[in-house]
Amino acid sequence: MKQFQIAYTDDKAFCRQIDEINSWCGANPAYTKLFRIYSEDMEPEHIQHICNLLDEHMPEALYLGCTTNANIMNAALADAKILLTCTVFEYETTQAAILQFPFLEENVKDDVERLRTFCLENPWVSCVEMHATIMDMSMKEFCDEMTLLPKDIQVFGGGAFNPNMDDDTAAVFSKGSGFLAHGIIFLLLGGPDFHVHSTFISGWKPLRRRFLVTKADRAILYELDGRPAFDVYHRFLGIKKNDRFFSNTLEFPLFVSHNDLDVLRCPLAVNEDGSFVMSSDMQEGTYVRMAYGVPDTILASIRKDGQKIADFRPQIIQAFSCAARRAFWGDDNISEETLPFRSVAVTSGFYTHGEFLRMNGDMLNFNVTLVLAAMREGDPAAGEPVHIYDTQLDDLDKIPIISRFVSFIEASTAELEEINVKLAMTSITDGLTGLYNRTEIERRIRIAMDKRTANESSAPLSLIMLDIDNFKRVNDTYGHREGDHVIQALSDVLRKTVIGVHSYYIGRWGGEEFMVLLSQGTADEAAALAEQIRLNFAAVSYETAKPQTVSIGVTAARDGENPDALYSRVDKALYTAKANGKNQVVRLD
Ligand code: GH3
Ligand code: MG
Ligand code: MG
Repeated sequence: MKQFQIAYTDDKAFCRQIDEINSWCGANPAYTKLFRIYSEDMEPEHIQHICNLLDEHMPEALYLGCTTNANIMNAALADAKILLTCTVFEYETTQAAILQFPFLEENVKDDVERLRTFCLENPWVSCVEMHATIMDMSMKEFCDEMTLLPKDIQVFGGGAFNPNMDDDTAAVFSKGSGFLAHGIIFLLLGGPDFHVHSTFISGWKPLRRRFLVTKADRAILYELDGRPAFDVYHRFLGIKKNDRFFSNTLEFPLFVSHNDLDVLRCPLAVNEDGSFVMSSDMQEGTYVRMAYGVPDTILASIRKDGQKIADFRPQIIQAFSCAARRAFWGDDNISEETLPFRSVAVTSGFYTHGEFLRMNGDMLNFNVTLVLAAMREGDPAAGEPVHIYDTQLDDLDKIPIISRFVSFIEASTAELEEINVKLAMTSITDGLTGLYNRTEIERRIRIAMDKRTANESSAPLSLIMLDIDNFKRVNDTYGHREGDHVIQALSDVLRKTVIGVHSYYIGRWGGEEFMVLLSQGTADEAAALAEQIRLNFAAVSYETAKPQTVSIGVTAARDGENPDALYSRVDKALYTAKANGKNQVVRLD
C-alpha cells in the first residue's frame, strides 16, 4: 500500500495532487483507493466542497473523515486545517468498506449490531478504524457491545472533535452517507495480504497522591475520599465549574483500573452537586490517581513501544492522539512524540479527546493516550531492521516549566508521606522502649474485647501485667540512666519471650509497668509465658546495676466483662505478687 498526503490549500493545487495520484496509479498496481479526511475546519460547506471535488476527480475512491482538534501529517503537527491522506492498496485481495450510522445513546446497540452482522457476513474484515461524535456521551455501553465482535478483529480510532477544546460540536462524514453531527463511522479493512498491528502509548505517570472512590454509580463519579469529586479537583488543581472545565481536567486525567489495566480517563462534565460524568463506569472502593505527563517517561515509552511497531515493518501508521498531549507539550514540542515514527512509515492522523483501542477482545476508551495502528500489505519488506528515531530530551527547545513543578510536588509528597508514616508510628509508640504506648495498648485491648463480645464466643483472651521490683532503689543507687537501661532490658525480654505466641500486643503501661495482651491466649498459656519472662529478666546483667526482678499478675477475660473489670483483676493479681514477696507470678481466674 502507498499513502499520499495532501494538505488542502486551494482547489487548483488539490486537483493537481489528485492528478498526480491518478498518474501514479496508472503506472502501478492500484486497486482500492481510500481517502481519509481530517478537518479542523468546522464549516460543513467547506468539507462538502472537498468531497464534491473527490467525487468529480476520483469517483472510484472511497472516503471518510471527521472534524478534529488538529491534524498529524508526515508524523508532525500539521499546519493544514484540512488534511487528506490517500491510501492506495496495491493488492487485489485487500478489501475496504465504510459503514456510517447516526450515533446517539439510543442507537448504540443497533449500530454495533449492524457492524457485527457486517463482520460476520464478511470474514475478510481484520480491523475496524472508527470515528464517532462522543462528546458528553458515556461510551460504556458502546464498549460493552463492541466486545461481541469476532475476537480477532482489531478496533482502533479516535473521536471526532473540534479545534476549540471546549466546543463539543463535531461531525463525521463519508462517501454516500453525507455529513452527521451525531454519527459514527466504521472503516473496515482486511484481506489475506493485509496486516495490521494496533497498540497504545501513554507515558503519563500517576501522581503519588491517591484518592479512594467512595461513591460512584455507573459513569457518575460522586465522591473521592468522601468529598464531592469536583471539590477535589477544585482544591488540588484550582479547576472551576466553567466552560473550560473539560479542557482543564483533560490535562489531569485519572488513572483508573479497568480489567487490571490502568487506563487514563477524565471527567467529561461536572454536575450541579459536584459529581463528575465520566466516559465509562467507575468502581466504588477502588483507588484513582491524577496523572501528569512526564517528558522523559513519554519519550522512553515511544522508544520502547515504537520499536515494536518498527519491527512490524508497516507501510503506513495511523495515529490517534489526544488534544491534552498537545496542550501538555505545546505546539512547539508536540511533534517530538510522533516524529520518531517518520523513520518507520508514512504517519498521519489527528488529535482527539477520546481514543479507542480493542485489546484482548476488550474495547477500551482512553483519554490522553496515543493510539497507533500500523498497516502493511504483503510480507515485511526485506533489508536492514528499521530503528525508530531516538528523541532525546536535550533536543527539545524547552521542557514545559510545569513539569518541573510536578517533580517538585512529587518530591514534597514523598517526603510528607514519609513524615506521616513516622508521625503515625510516634503517636502510638513509647519513645524509651519502642513498645506501644498506654493509649495504643488500651485501644488494642478494647478492640480485642469488643471483638470477643461481638462473636459471643468464650474465646480465650489474657492479660499479663508486670512491675519491676524496688525500681526506685535502682534509680537511687545507680542513677536514672541505668534505671532506663533496666526498663529497656525488660522490654527486650518481653519482645524476645513473646515471639511465637499468636496475636500478642505489648505496651508500656506507665513508668516501670508493662502490659501484655494475648488476644487469643488462655490463662494457662499466659501464666507459663509470665514465668518465662520472670526468669529471663532475672538473668539479665547490667553495666553497673545488679540483676533485677519483676512481679507479674496474670488473668483471663470472663464472658461479658468490660476492660475495666479485667484491668482491676490483673492489677489485683500483681498487687498480690508484690504483697507475697515480689519476684513471682500470681494468677487470678
Ligand atoms: P515496687 O517493688 O513496689 O514496685 O517498688 P518500686 O520502687 O518499683 O515502686 P514505685 O512505683 O514507687 O517506683 C517506680 C519508680 O520508677 C518511680 C519513678 O521515679 C521511676 N520511673 C518512672 N519512669 C521512669 C523512667 O522512665 N526512667 C527511670 N529511670 N525511672 C522511672
Ligand atoms: Mg510501679
Ligand atoms: Mg515497681
